[in-house]
Amino acid sequence: MDFELTEDQTLLVDTVREFVKKESPVERMRKLRGTELGWDRKTWKQMGELGWLGVMFPESVGGAGMTFVEAGLILQELGTTLVPEPIIPLMVAGTAIARSGSPEQQERFLAKSLTGDESLAFAWNEEQSRHDVNDVKTRAEKTKDGFRLDGQKRWVLNGHAADHIVLSARSGGDTRSGDGLSLFVIDKDTPGVKIQAVQMMDSQKGALLELKNVELGRDRLLGEEGKAGPLLDHLMDYGAAATVCEASGILQSVLWMTRSYLMERKQFGAPIGSFQALQHRAVDMFVETELTKSVAMLAMIKADETDVAERHRAISAAKTSVIESGAFVTRQGIQLHGGIGVTDEHDVGLYFKRMHILATLFGDDAFHTARYAGLPSFTRGV
Ligand SMILES: Cc1cc2nc3c(=O)[nH]c(=O)nc-3n(C[C@H](O)[C@H](O)[C@H](O)COP(=O)(O)OP(=O)(O)OC[C@H]3O[C@@H](n4cnc5c(N)ncnc54)[C@H](O)[C@@H]3O)c2cc1C
Repeated sequence: MDFELTEDQTLLVDTVREFVKKESPVERMRKLRGTELGWDRKTWKQMGELGWLGVMFPESVGGAGMTFVEAGLILQELGTTLVPEPIIPLMVAGTAIARSGSPEQQERFLAKSLTGDESLAFAWNEEQSRHDVNDVKTRAEKTKDGFRLDGQKRWVLNGHAADHIVLSARSGGDTRSGDGLSLFVIDKDTPGVKIQAVQMMDSQKGALLELKNVELGRDRLLGEEGKAGPLLDHLMDYGAAATVCEASGILQSVLWMTRSYLMERKQFGAPIGSFQALQHRAVDMFVETELTKSVAMLAMIKADETDVAERHRAISAAKTSVIESGAFVTRQGIQLHGGIGVTDEHDVGLYFKRMHILATLFGDDAFHTARYAGLPSFTRGV
């Protein structure tokens, strides 16, 4: 497997790195976390103009026609300074629209998000679903002109602000079955939709959605009714792979800020980084960070793998690995900073919290371990 970046990819990474250093240091996230939106529309628009929001979308919908790898490389850099703009929801919900929406739906619900004029959210999680994308209780009943939706969705990233929300609902099939699932698009002002903003531990904002007798026209259904199961499964992998990429950027920052502290902070007349016990810890952090870079690359490359079992294997392995490395590196980061590391004034805690949330998004450790263990090649011992 070739892990070398192409010339274009290197240029893209350099551009994003330069941008986050100048335009979006962690200080910006600190300021925005107290605001109602939690991110900034001007920066979002700038990202749209730079072509980052559309990077992995086809040119036919206004994207750059590149792949998940380029989007993952961007996310990795954004993770280094905790950029708060809602790119992961755009990647997931946008893919749902790009893959299953008609040209009219793509123009109406996706085009403006790629230019940074609108934003998206993806609502799949429910109270009971425990990361299982098929565990959907939200009902979609057929009506004369379309569908009537009833149900609840939880932890909808950017659901508090999104102009359009892609959501899953069931019109048939047994509970927890991939059959009978459909994708719909609702807008924030759709009658019958109650949106309650929530703030997560890392200060990112999301929403709880309540849907009561929500009447939707047929133009709100994406793709064929009841057939969204395989796409939903793929979207879940996209989300999981995206969290791995962002986590990789987080770990790189925590490693280097901790190393700087060990070189600066003096005790007994010497930088504490000169003590072997702390050097060993820093080396362990380095090894875990490098491992995460590799699994992030694996997740990026395998995000569009057509063999579903192979895709599941790679993404679940990457996610479980990153959860473990992420917990280790960010905890060590706090520990090695001593008392200052547990204060809100220091950035290391913000990285720790973001890592903690990324660990749970699109499948936690238990979910991905179980999914991996259930794969045919694993159970057969191949
Ligand atoms: C919530 C909280 C409650 C606390 N309560 C108390 C309390 O009740 N009583 C009390 O006395 N203190 C208390 N402390 C202070 C705590 O003991 C210090 O934070 C801790 O000793 C680390 O010191 P530091 O923050 O100055 O880190 P630093 O001295 O900057 O050290 C950074 C890292 O290097 C390690 N280190 C430092 N010097 C050496 C060395 N010579 N050799 C090897 N490793 C080294 C430290 O363990 C730490 O991991 C508290 C701290 C916190 C965060």
